[in-house]
Amino acid sequence: MGEQRIIYMDHSATTYTKENVVEAMLPYFTRHFGNPSSIYGIARYTKQAIDTARAQVAKAIGAEPDEIYFTSGGSESDNWAIKGVAYANRKRGNHIITTKIEHHAVIHTCQFLEKEGFAVTYLPVDKYGRVDPAELEKAITDKTILVSIMYANNEIGTIEPIRELAAIAQKHKIYFHTDAVQAIGNVPINVRNEKIDLLSLSAHKFYGPKGVGALYIRNGVRLDNLIHGGGQEKKRRAGTENIAGIVGCGKAIELATADIEGHNVRIRALRDRLLKGILERIPHAYLNGHPTERLPGNINISFEFIEGESMLLWLDDEGICASTGSACTSGSLEPSHVLLATGLPVEISHGSLRLTLGDVNTEQDVDTVLEVLPKVVSRLREMSPLYQSAGKKGGCNV
Ligand SMILES: *Cc1c(COP(=O)(O)O)cnc(C)c1O
Repeated sequence: MGEQRIIYMDHSATTYTKENVVEAMLPYFTRHFGNPSSIYGIARYTKQAIDTARAQVAKAIGAEPDEIYFTSGGSESDNWAIKGVAYANRKRGNHIITTKIEHHAVIHTCQFLEKEGFAVTYLPVDKYGRVDPAELEKAITDKTILVSIMYANNEIGTIEPIRELAAIAQKHKIYFHTDAVQAIGNVPINVRNEKIDLLSLSAHKFYGPKGVGALYIRNGVRLDNLIHGGGQEKKRRAGTENIAGIVGCGKAIELATADIEGHNVRIRALRDRLLKGILERIPHAYLNGHPTERLPGNINISFEFIEGESMLLWLDDEGICASTGSACTSGSLEPSHVLLATGLPVEISHGSLRLTLGDVNTEQDVDTVLEVLPKVVSRLREMSPLYQSAGKKGGCNV
């Protein structure tokens, strides 16, 4: 088999871990392996390493170090924020407000809490995937204890008006949580200025290792523990710390937030050229998500008369890694709940393709995709009876 050049355009699913992040982590597998809870000298290195990483994460989002708690990643942080606030504030009320387009780590957690007697409002979004602050205001009742709205959507890349939404929650003295897993490194965030009480992040979405992340908990927020056991993380999250992972998370977030604007300018230029080229070359193609308020590397496009899964297989054959719907639902033919929430018809949501650009992508990658994708789409359309019977005219008015 010849060496095939791989074009990776799935950075919203995960990123590689940067070389200097891996280097920072390595000593904590071998030389500095001490359990930070032990009192002998060698354990102090690991304790210091965690303190450094905590300060790095805090600085990146404008928090204090003692407001950062390390977790196993975005899913755990989302679960902890939502279940933790729900159980600790049950006497105040049982109502939670979230949106229809959250990651499953939020949606399934809320559905679980509904079975436990909580009431959940899933806010609608407009055709671009934006939540209307007026809708949030309307949904609030005297029983509302938590609002959880993602910073940026993982499928369509839409960035939510977090500052306005959080201000509404604060005005009503309701905790505001945001899943910022996709936003870190792409959008400058300051939890103080933006009045955010809880924020989830995950290292493998910003060139750090998998299986580690953090939850920012503003000092004073009432929240129950999720993981019970030892006294780690100020007695709030038990379990011997994933030292190497935590070190990697700290280093990666420092690098990812050092020059957000510079990174965005480069990625956005590649993304815009790719998007323009696709829309010029392929008929009956529609951009999903917001035209401007979107993550710099995100393209989500629907092609009429196409099955997203078959498009992915053909692209994979050409060494192009992309996704359809969200990574978690591919493999099943469930239409994306995010695309459906934007009002896209089911048939068209099936033909969606997500390309998410990142650090590794080059002008050459864009050229290759622009050469391959139109061929793949037209071959698949030639095989589609729907396309034939629609007289190749297209019938969608989105
Ligand atoms: C990836 C992702 C998660 C889950 O994070 P893990 O670290 O993989 O558990 C949660 N929310 C969003 C928006 C994501 O993109």
